Amino acid sequence: MNRDDILAWLLENDPDRLEELWGEADTVREAHVGMAVHLRGLIEVGNHCVRRCAYCGIAACAPRIPRYRMDHYEILDCAHRAWEFGFGTVVMQSGEDPGLTQEFMTEVIRSIRARFGLAITLSLGERSEAELKAWKQAGADRYLLRFETTDPELYRTIHPALPGTVSDRLQQLLLMRDLGFEIGTGVMVGIPGQTWETLAEDIWTFRDFDMDMIGIGPYIPSPGTPLDGELGDGLRRRAGDRQVPNDETTALKVLALTRLLCPDTNIPATTALATLDPAAGRANGLKRGANVVMPNLTPPWYRELYQIYPGKAGLHETADITRAAIEAQIHALGRSIGRGPGGRGRANVAGEG
Ligand code: SAM
Repeated sequence: MNRDDILAWLLENDPDRLEELWGEADTVREAHVGMAVHLRGLIEVGNHCVRRCAYCGIAACAPRIPRYRMDHYEILDCAHRAWEFGFGTVVMQSGEDPGLTQEFMTEVIRSIRARFGLAITLSLGERSEAELKAWKQAGADRYLLRFETTDPELYRTIHPALPGTVSDRLQQLLLMRDLGFEIGTGVMVGIPGQTWETLAEDIWTFRDFDMDMIGIGPYIPSPGTPLDGELGDGLRRRAGDRQVPNDETTALKVLALTRLLCPDTNIPATTALATLDPAAGRANGLKRGANVVMPNLTPPWYRELYQIYPGKAGLHETADITRAAIEAQIHALGRSIGRGPGGRGRANVAGEG
């Protein structure tokens, strides 16, 4: 498949042809990563952020929200739940927050490894080489950093660099890979200004960079953010009839095409998909190429404050409820729960249980 084929599939709306795409993606998923769905326990460790991303509800410029940062013991409590639930991995995610210091995160990573032996994924934004090195050495395995879009102008507009710096997320990902991390990236589907051509290039880039994990979710407007206002209107006007919609079918097309192009990568059925379609979004993702789900382990009182967009799936649930609902969905699809760390590679198939 080349870029033109990807573009043609993105523009395809014939229901029979789309059924073909869904079926192909599911077959490739089964052949390359098996029947197991790996569960990664998500811990939203804090919502402080120095960035001014135009799409995000917890950005520094977002309307006033109470800010929080979990302490060592609160994070360890969540990791303990992950271990009790039999998850193989915890994902620690936050705004880009220098207050989550190199030393603090190093201690947290060491403690989680020593006490629970879980695989550790970090998603803490753009961090220095020294921090990344220290966290790798302390026992972190993977890092998630979405490049958001391959259109450089759109990227600069929706993700302004910090004063005096350049933001190059692909470069950061390559550095992380050199340091020994498995690297994960992704995009939002349907951000204002995103054209079909850009989106095809994004999918091509997943393959070009041989990403280990790829997260794809619809863009969900967050009230009060620049992208939900005039900035977004202007970007949409500029894209004109090439503007990508932020609907479920388009997000699922991107997911399925990504599975075809990156057969053995780990692809989550994202929370954004489940938010857009609470009844079936997650299952639809799992049936169209996804093999990972990230149940939220964040205590409910912090979840409320980590609303990168409104109405996030599972907002008012406890970890037990979220986990039970997700496991039931997986079993209803005739799939199994993955055991062990579930990193990229043949081990996924061998250990699918
Ligand atoms: N601060 C870290 C970073 O920027 O990578 C991790 C947290 S950030 C909130 C995680 C991801 O959420 C972003 O990469 C972005 O793709 C997604 N996101 C943020 N706002 C969103 C929105 N309004 N709709 C859909 N996804 C969104």
